[in-house]
Amino acid sequence: MRPIQMVDLKQQYNHIQNEVKAAIDEVLQSAGFINGKAVQDFTQSLSQYLSVKHVIPCANGTDALQIALMALGLEPGDEVITPSFTFIATTEVIALLKLKPVFVDVDPETFCIEPSAIEKAITPKTKAIVPVHLYGQAANMEAIMKIASAHGLYVIEDNAQAIGSSFTFANGETKKAGTIGHIGATSFFPSKNLGCYGDGGAIFTNDDTLADKIKMIANHGQSKRYYHDVVGCNSRLDSVQAAVLNVKLPRLDDYIKARQAAADFYDKAFAGLSSVTTPVRANYSDHVFHQYTILLEGVDRNALNEHLASRNIPSMIYYPVPAHRQKMFESFGGSEYELPVTDWLTQRCLSLPMHTELDQEQLAFITESVIDFIKK
Ligand SMILES: *Cc1c(COP(=O)(O)O)cnc(C)c1O
Repeated sequence: MRPIQMVDLKQQYNHIQNEVKAAIDEVLQSAGFINGKAVQDFTQSLSQYLSVKHVIPCANGTDALQIALMALGLEPGDEVITPSFTFIATTEVIALLKLKPVFVDVDPETFCIEPSAIEKAITPKTKAIVPVHLYGQAANMEAIMKIASAHGLYVIEDNAQAIGSSFTFANGETKKAGTIGHIGATSFFPSKNLGCYGDGGAIFTNDDTLADKIKMIANHGQSKRYYHDVVGCNSRLDSVQAAVLNVKLPRLDDYIKARQAAADFYDKAFAGLSSVTTPVRANYSDHVFHQYTILLEGVDRNALNEHLASRNIPSMIYYPVPAHRQKMFESFGGSEYELPVTDWLTQRCLSLPMHTELDQEQLAFITESVIDFIKK
C-alpha cells in the first residue's frame, strides 16, 4: 500500500508531470514571469469555469480577502460579521484593516455561518458579511444574500475551500460558490482543491466598479502606470503558478469527483456508528470535500488521532482554537463571545485524509482503523 498522506500532491503530480513541465518551460522560455500569457489564459479560463465576469488573480488567498475588503471603502471601526470557526486568515484581514470582526456561530450540521446569528449581530456599524464555505460546501448564500440586501450590507465569500462547488437557489438556479456575493476570494495554496506549486489566489466579482477598484488596489493603487490614485498593495499571481493552474483547472471537476468518491466510501463505512457523525450534505450546495471532517461523540479524539498515527494514518483537527479564542483577538473582546456550536465542533471534529489520489486499499485501511478503535 502506498503511504497515506493528508493530501498526496506527489502522486497527483506524477499523473500530470509532463504537461506541467512543458507549461512551466514555456514560461521560462518566454521570460514573461509577471503577468505573462499563462496568467492571462488562466484568468480567462477561470472566469469561464465560474461564469463570473471578472477574475483578478493575486498572490494568495489572504491577500484576496484583504483586497476585497479594501475595495469596499470602509471606515475604521466598521463591523464585519464572520464565523469564528474558520482558518485565521478570514478574520485576521478584518482586524488588520482596522475594521472590527464580529464573530458569530455556525450551523452544527454544515459548519458554515448561521444566517439567523448574522441577523442578531447586525448593528448600525455593520457594513459587511464574510461567510466561509468551510471544508468544501457553500454556506447558505440565499439566506445570507437576503439578509445583506435587507440591511444594505456587502457580502465577501471566502471560497478558499470550496472552488468548483455549485449553489442551488430555491428557484432551481445554480451559481458557483464564490460568485454569489459582491466579491469572492480564493486561494491556490498547494493543498487547496485547485492548488498551484507555491502561493496564489484570486478575487471574483460581477460588479464592474468593484473590479476596477480591486485591480487598482492589487497593483499599487495605480490607474495608469506610475499614477497612483489610492493606497494599494502589490499582489500578483506569477506566470509559473498560472502555468501549473492551467494544467490543473481542466481537471478540477475530475479531482472533485475523486474527492466525492472517497467521501462516499467513508460515509458508507461509518454509517452504522452512533459515535461518528459523517459530513451532512446541505440540499442547497454540493460538497467538494476540501476536508472530510467527522464529529466524534464519546470517543477520545486525541487517542484516536494517536491510534491512527501509530498505523501511519494522518488525521488533523481543523481548527483546534476558534478565532474568538485566539490571543490575537483578546483586545477585540474575543473572550466575551459565547459561541456554543463553534466550541462544541472545535472539541469534536477530526479530519481524515482527503485528496484526489486515495485508493480503495488506503480507504479500507483508514476506515477499518477508525472502526477498530471505536469498537475496542
Ligand atoms: C487557505 C485559506 C485562506 C488563505 O489562503 P492563503 O492562500 O493561504 O493565504 C483563507 N481562508 C480559508 C478558509 C482558507 O482555508
